[in-house]
Amino acid sequence: MNKDIATPIRTKEILKKYGFSFKKSLGQNFLIDTNILDRIVDHAGVTERTGVIEIGPGIGALTEQLAKRAKQVVAFEIDQRLLPILKDTLSPYDNVTVIHQDVLKADVRTVIEEQFHDCDEIMVVANLPYYVTTPIIMKLLEENLPLKGIVVMLQKEVAERMAADPSSKEYGSLSIAVQFYTEAKTVMTVPKTVFVPQPNVDSAVIRLLLREGPAVDVVNEAFFFQLIKASFAQRRKTLLNNLVNNLPQGKEKKPIIEEVLKEIQIDGKRRGEALSIDEFAALSNGLYKALF
Ligand code: SAM
Repeated sequence: MNKDIATPIRTKEILKKYGFSFKKSLGQNFLIDTNILDRIVDHAGVTERTGVIEIGPGIGALTEQLAKRAKQVVAFEIDQRLLPILKDTLSPYDNVTVIHQDVLKADVRTVIEEQFHDCDEIMVVANLPYYVTTPIIMKLLEENLPLKGIVVMLQKEVAERMAADPSSKEYGSLSIAVQFYTEAKTVMTVPKTVFVPQPNVDSAVIRLLLREGPAVDVVNEAFFFQLIKASFAQRRKTLLNNLVNNLPQGKEKKPIIEEVLKEIQIDGKRRGEALSIDEFAALSNGLYKALF
């Protein structure tokens, strides 16, 4: 019986056997600590009824631990050079499918429909490539996929922004975008020493549990996100200034914006970072009705 993939010795052996060299541009930092992997799988609540989507299996460190506990694992890997390695390292597991594709271009919905009909719930679990963390998470959320949740390793600083509360210095448009769809919590911080090569930034694991519906009722989702972007465009400016300067035709519409703020009792002198998601929803709905 082979040792787990995610041990320093076995990882070194596999890399040597295949003459594999890391590509920094693909965010390749592999995990070499089974303890950390176990904890990630615990936080994801993976059981024999769970279908798991993994992004970036690398040489299979996390995939292996998922395969041991999940019903089915489907992993998207962009790097062709890893395919023969994964075929070898994951050969003991018959519940894993590796798809050679950039996850950002993948039709994840169809993959779910085709691969997970025997599963009761679907989780995304991954040690994400850090250069594309936010686009990957936003793609998964915006496509409204039938997911229970997403438990992923990412840069600590990005995890903090995603899970931030109003008025904290990390709170911004990313916090609202993520919390619109999910309940977000940083569940672990992870030292650099458990990766090869070690990344330049600190890491954390975030758990995003999908809400049954969006956190707030908004009349027009696209306008809600446009408003959020405008409100945080220049963090040091007041809400009113940001709206006037960054909403389309904001300058001409200044009197209407002021009127709506007054009506819903939000002081335009506040900063965007002080508004809760409920306040943004009220502002978005009020402005949408008044402007369109
Ligand atoms: N899961 C492995 C582990 O924990 O050891 C490797 C994680 S490593 C941080 C990220 C992996 O994502 C690499 O294998 C990389 O080749 C892959 N990757 C990078 N960009 C990707 C993309 N757009 N789509 C799918 N996989 C990607």
